[in-house]
Amino acid sequence: MSSEASGLPAGWFTEVVEATGTAFSLKSAERVHAEATPYQKIEIWKTDTFGWLMTIDGCTMVSTRDNFLYHEMMSHPALNSHPNPEHVVIVGGGDCGTLREVLKHPEVKTATQVEIDERVTRLSEQYFPELCVANGDPRATLFFGDGIQWMKDAKPESLDLIIIDSTDPVGPAEGLFGAKFYVDCLKALKPGGLLVQQSESPILHLELIAEMHHHMRAVGFAQTRLLHFPQTIYPSGWWSGSIAQKTAGALAERLDDNAIDALDAQFYNADTHRAAFALPTFVRKRLAAS
Ligand code: SAM
Repeated sequence: MSSEASGLPAGWFTEVVEATGTAFSLKSAERVHAEATPYQKIEIWKTDTFGWLMTIDGCTMVSTRDNFLYHEMMSHPALNSHPNPEHVVIVGGGDCGTLREVLKHPEVKTATQVEIDERVTRLSEQYFPELCVANGDPRATLFFGDGIQWMKDAKPESLDLIIIDSTDPVGPAEGLFGAKFYVDCLKALKPGGLLVQQSESPILHLELIAEMHHHMRAVGFAQTRLLHFPQTIYPSGWWSGSIAQKTAGALAERLDDNAIDALDAQFYNADTHRAAFALPTFVRKRLAAS
């Protein structure tokens, strides 16, 4: 939302979230692009201190400066929690940052990005080319279509890891947070397979997270885990990923220093991996009751 519309001084981008009574602003004198696609409104802002900023329906999606936090933590913890993740699908993720991180793993043989809105990717290629560097990798497939339908049509037991890097649970992404979709994900995963889904803020959306974990287990996932990490431009600056395991048992912990160094990550390492799974008491209590 532009500053004028939000009543804030000119020269600021602001995301106001009425439902949580929160707002986040970035100094930005200029919106350089705006378009309405069949699915959503995409805008690009030139900010003073965070580089380019992409917003979808007024919600912050990705900035040049801090996207590494989200992209690394939505990919590496789950990949290194699986003994041998060969076949990966990313639902959403049209900015291509998660795809880039996934393809840093030599054990990955195929990575398919299923993005409903091709314009997100085309604009990312223009304003965030550093996120799109792996798009030409022979292991990568960029599919444009609805992830809900793609998962319905997926071959049973064909995937090791499903990463749901979607927008909030409204509009085209609403169905990605529902039991029916989780049933299709469970069917598409091989034994030992994992699903990781962006699950919003542990402090603002804990009831949503508890509901997601409840649905995931109700449809047959053996266990659910939560990982959390900082994300400056998202509401509360604190974000999370929810992991669902098809098969019961401890998660793998492939935290070899050389392999992690080779990821050339800025946030992710063996310590931040373990820290991401260490939950605050109020979160642990709420999820234990879900
Ligand atoms: N990190 C962001 C977040 O947590 O809000 C998400 C970034 S990524 C750009 C989100 C993408 O999900 C968008 O490009 C959007 O078009 C896509 N998306 C939403 N619903 C979808 C669906 N049903 N199938 C595939 N992609 C979807």
